[in-house]
Amino acid sequence: MDRFFADDPQLIDALLAWSRRRILDGQDPSTRAEPASHLTEAMGVTITPAGLGGAAAMARFTDVVIPATRAINHPMNLAYVPNAATSAATAFDAAVSAACVFAGAWDGGAGAIHAENQALAWLAELVGYPADAGGTFTQGGTIGNLSALVAARHRAIERRRDQGLAEPWRWRFAATGDAHSSIRSAARVMGVEVLDVPGDERGRMTGVALQAALDAHGDDDVFAVVATAGTTNAGMVDELDAIATVAGRHDLWLHVDGAFGLAARAAPSTRRLFDGIERSDSFVVDPHKWLYAPYDCCALVYRDPREAAAAHSQHASYLDQLDRSAWNPTDYAVQLSRRARGLPFWFSLATYGTERYSAAIERSLDTARQVADHIRASRHLELVVEPQLSVLLFRRAGWSAERLQHWSDAQAVAGTILCIPTKWAGEPVLRLCFVSPDTRADEVTALLDTMG
Ligand SMILES: *Cc1c(COP(=O)(O)O)cnc(C)c1O
Repeated sequence: MDRFFADDPQLIDALLAWSRRRILDGQDPSTRAEPASHLTEAMGVTITPAGLGGAAAMARFTDVVIPATRAINHPMNLAYVPNAATSAATAFDAAVSAACVFAGAWDGGAGAIHAENQALAWLAELVGYPADAGGTFTQGGTIGNLSALVAARHRAIERRRDQGLAEPWRWRFAATGDAHSSIRSAARVMGVEVLDVPGDERGRMTGVALQAALDAHGDDDVFAVVATAGTTNAGMVDELDAIATVAGRHDLWLHVDGAFGLAARAAPSTRRLFDGIERSDSFVVDPHKWLYAPYDCCALVYRDPREAAAAHSQHASYLDQLDRSAWNPTDYAVQLSRRARGLPFWFSLATYGTERYSAAIERSLDTARQVADHIRASRHLELVVEPQLSVLLFRRAGWSAERLQHWSDAQAVAGTILCIPTKWAGEPVLRLCFVSPDTRADEVTALLDTMG
C-alpha cells in the first residue's frame, strides 16, 4: 500500500532485529543516566522540519538513548524494585503494539480484554476472592491505588446518602508511615487526609494499632484502610487478617497495596503471610515488579467490581454506543483509552504456567534467604531488621553514609551490582531487593565481601 508516511521495511526489520538481540542478550549493566548536557551534545538536533530518516533516528536510539538508561532487568540490578520480565512476555509486548488494540472497552478490545481477565482471575483466585471479582490493568500501582481509593470513597458517600447523612467536611483513610509514597499522593489528588497509624517495630500495621487510631480519632470521617502487603522499603506485610476484622467492625473499605510483595502469595513458603487478604475489598499487584511482565503493568482487582464501576464509569453522547452490559475496563480505574497492558503478563502466564511462576518467586525468596544468612554470618555486615519477603536491609559496621554511597556508586559504574542505600529508622543502610530467579546468591555475597 502506498502510505502517506512511507513504509520502510528495512527499518522495521532493523528494529525487530535490535529488539530480538536486546530480549535474548540483555543490556550492558554498566549503562546509566547521563547528565542532560551530555545528551544534548550527543543527540544533536533530532526534531527537524524534514526529519532525520529512520536509519538516523534509530542510530540515536541505539547509540545515545539506550546507553543512557539503566539495565533494569539485569539479574544483578537489586535496587529499588527491579524488573525481571520473561523473554516471552517482552517479545509479546511488541506483538501487542503491532496489534494496536484499543482495550478501554469491550467493543474495541473484546479478545484482548478476555485474555487479560483470565490473568486477573488467576490473581483473584490466588488471594481467595469470589468468582465474580474483577478489575483492570492500570499503568502502575500509583494509579491502581488511586483508583481503588476513589471507588472506596464513592461507596462511603453513597452509604452516607442512603442513611440521609451529610458528608464529612474532609474524608480520611488510615495508613502507616511505611505505606508507599503513592498512597499519600492519592490523598493529595483526592483532597483527603491520612489518618496515621503507627507501625510496629518492623513498620507493619497491626489490628491493635489500627483500632487504637480509630478509637482516638473516631471513625466518622474515615472511609478506608490501606494495608501494605510488602512494604517497598523493607518488604514487610501488615497484619492483614486482624486489620480486616477492625475494618469490618467500622464498615471501612480495606484496600491492600501489594504492588511489590503480593506476588509472594504464589510462593508456598510465604503464602500464609497474606492470609486475611481474602477479606479485603480491593488489591493491587504490579506484574512489572515480581510477576515477570514488562513495564508498565498494575493489576487492580475489586471484590465487588460493581462498586468500582459506580465510581469510575464515564458517560457522554460519544460513549452511548458502548455496550454497558459487557466488561469495559474503563469502568474500573481512572482511565479510558488504554493499551492491553495486561496481555504480556497473560501471555507469560499462559506460556510458562502458574507452577513455573510459583517456583520462580520461591527461587528469588530463597536467594534472598541465602544472602541474608551470609550477612548474619559476616563479621562486618549486619541485618538491621529480620526480612519477611525478598528485601534485605543491612549495615556495614563503621561505615559512614558517604562511604556506603561511594561503595554503591563504584559497583554501579563497574556494572557488578546495583545496590542502593536507603534509610531505616533514620539510619543510612544498604538495601537489596530480589525479584529475578536468575540472580545468583554466590555472586551477590562475593561482592558484599568486598566491603570487608
Ligand atoms: C512500587 C509500589 C507502588 C507504586 O507502583 P508504580 O507501579 O511504581 O506506580 C505502590 N505501592 C507499593 C507497595 C510499591 O512497591
